[in-house]
Amino acid sequence: MITKELKDKIKDKLKDTVQRKNLGTFSEVYPGARAKAFEGYDIEDLREQVANIKKNVVKNLDKLADQFQREAEKRGAIFYRAKTDKDVIDYIMKLCREKDVKLVVKSKSMVSEEVELNEAFKKEGIESQETDLGEWIIQIAGHKPSHMVMPAIHLNRQQVADYFSKELGKDIEPDIPFLVHTARVQLREKFLKADMGISGANIAVAENGSLFIVTNEGNGRLTATLPRIHVILVGYEKLVEKMSDVIPILRVLPRNATAQVLTSYVNLISGPSEAIVENSDGSFSVQKKELHIILVDHGRLDMAKDPVFKELYQCIRCAACTNVCPVYALLGGHVYGHVYSGGIGALLNSFIGSKNTADQIQELCLTCGRCTEVCAGKINIPELIVEMRKRSVKKAGLPTLPKVVFQNIMSNRQLFHSVLRMASLAQKPFKNGAFIRNLPMFLSGYTKDRSLPAIVEVPFRERFKGLKLKRETKKQKIAFFSGCLIDFAYPEIGEAVVESLNCAGFKVNFPQGQTCCGTPMFLMGDLESAKKVAMQNLDAMQKENPDFIVLACPTGVEMWERYPELMKDSQRYYEIAVKFSKRIKEYTSYINELCEKGEMKLKSLKGKGLVTYHDSCHLKRVLGIFEEPRNIINKTGIDFVEMKHCDQCCGMAGSYSVKFPEISGELADQKHKDIMESKADIVLAGCPACVLQIKGLIDKKGGNVKVRHIAELIKEALK
Ligand code: SF4
Ligand code: SF4
Repeated sequence: MITKELKDKIKDKLKDTVQRKNLGTFSEVYPGARAKAFEGYDIEDLREQVANIKKNVVKNLDKLADQFQREAEKRGAIFYRAKTDKDVIDYIMKLCREKDVKLVVKSKSMVSEEVELNEAFKKEGIESQETDLGEWIIQIAGHKPSHMVMPAIHLNRQQVADYFSKELGKDIEPDIPFLVHTARVQLREKFLKADMGISGANIAVAENGSLFIVTNEGNGRLTATLPRIHVILVGYEKLVEKMSDVIPILRVLPRNATAQVLTSYVNLISGPSEAIVENSDGSFSVQKKELHIILVDHGRLDMAKDPVFKELYQCIRCAACTNVCPVYALLGGHVYGHVYSGGIGALLNSFIGSKNTADQIQELCLTCGRCTEVCAGKINIPELIVEMRKRSVKKAGLPTLPKVVFQNIMSNRQLFHSVLRMASLAQKPFKNGAFIRNLPMFLSGYTKDRSLPAIVEVPFRERFKGLKLKRETKKQKIAFFSGCLIDFAYPEIGEAVVESLNCAGFKVNFPQGQTCCGTPMFLMGDLESAKKVAMQNLDAMQKENPDFIVLACPTGVEMWERYPELMKDSQRYYEIAVKFSKRIKEYTSYINELCEKGEMKLKSLKGKGLVTYHDSCHLKRVLGIFEEPRNIINKTGIDFVEMKHCDQCCGMAGSYSVKFPEISGELADQKHKDIMESKADIVLAGCPACVLQIKGLIDKKGGNVKVRHIAELIKEALK
């Protein structure tokens, strides 16, 4: 259940023009800058190396933690393992009392944010000073970090200057070099007087007990070297086995985080160094420092034991996932509640921090997969989000409306289809041509940013019976699995798919026992309902026993590929699911394959207008199909223009547009703008849900652009 509090936060953040501008600019510049920073490197190979290094850590966590402790102690560190946030606080406060610590300087540490160390210092009457510029800004502003690497990215220079002016009691100009200089002067003083330095660490090496701290401002080095006591807070996930493991991480981390080839400072700490200490008579002497290492659990050991979520150990906190996340770009980090933001934040927060908040904020994920493309540790964030949803439904059940719809209506094909047929009659007062443009009362939000398609009076399953197909010339039999949208909203797409495959010589059938593929239930975590519809589909296909099952819907393809796992408790259905999962063909890639083999010839559509193509998230990023539709378009000779942000989510994302119409509407606006700027006459997509969204938004927001599934272009090129 999405709370009013989260909805209010979303509304506020969508109105935050400063943050929107900052994040918008950054997300435009970042992908190109990142690609440039990786020039000369095999990114995939580096990501694979990082993922493997971390997989090894989680497999041998106890052994590596013990070795790290032994080696660090051998080099003179005082070691402590903290189970909870309270343990961290208690240890540091006790140390401060014993060592008479009055002033602490802190270099950036997510763990210290996580355990709310600054609040604890305040209660204890100890001055704590953040020394990373971004962290200091949010400290004086009283904010939480809004990004894992750039904590103050939500503020502009005027706001920063205002906070500085208030803090320092004088007018500070909003000039960036001057702001940096002011901070430096202010912080140097604190470094020199501090009794204790507290930092995080990016990597902890088990084989020699060393720690790496990566910073851009040199404050990490000053924190580590100037005060007489240095405390390092490090989570278990920062462990690596050996020094050679550090290299790939250091190659990926700055490039992924800020598109830098190298950060300005890479500090290696192996045991306590010497510190210059002021004596009571005002003289200075060199003394051995105290180095305390706190290895922090705070939920991490449970994470390591979890067979699925142990994957989160592959995270090196580079924040590249948030840098490309379309939801983060709109809302920033504060809506995510705790220290960690974005999809990875929702996942980390479910172990580290408030589980209730995590259950809420995981809903913000579109499962669009952009994060997975760049993740340093190759974490499949959307898959883990879906797993979280499944667990949450198992624990707390579904909200009432989806529960009734999934379990009482959609699980029963005949009832579901009867309801859709009744709805096609009931919608008449709201219908305008092929669209429903305005729904009344509490439903009005669903048609605010895009029109909805009207449910057709004659679904595809009926129209199929009247199709005049040619005699087949090929032996293989194809079954078309349409999915609900093609069946009940866009039968013309179904006709184009069937006719085009028939043109290539196939006998194409439409098994009438098929129903919803199960994606809506699966994505909301209702596995039982997903299983029920899967069984009906498997029975329908088993009757026909086709050589191939063709789908023109990427999420349907994914769902069919999940059927074996879904059916693992039922021997009979499992075997059928395995058999058919090997016979699935995604329509666009299959047509491309037929064209490449010379089994299908497309006629020229030159002069039929200018075409652009929208990449569906799941077609491009899950199935890896993005060159094939462009090949097909190219073969037709029709003029083509690539639109800006062609692979950015259109805002549909299944039930997302219903759960978060305000976010979906923003994404739809962006897509509309990109389409208009492309000046195309026709927008193509390979996914019926994207067709729905884009058709609806063109209808609502205007534009002389036709929206088509690529099957419709192919059909035209075969006439
Ligand atoms: S899947 Fe998309 S919306 Fe979800 S966290 Fe990743 S980039 Fe963000
Ligand atoms: S999930 Fe991946 S991209 Fe995101 S912070 Fe972690 S390592 Fe970086």
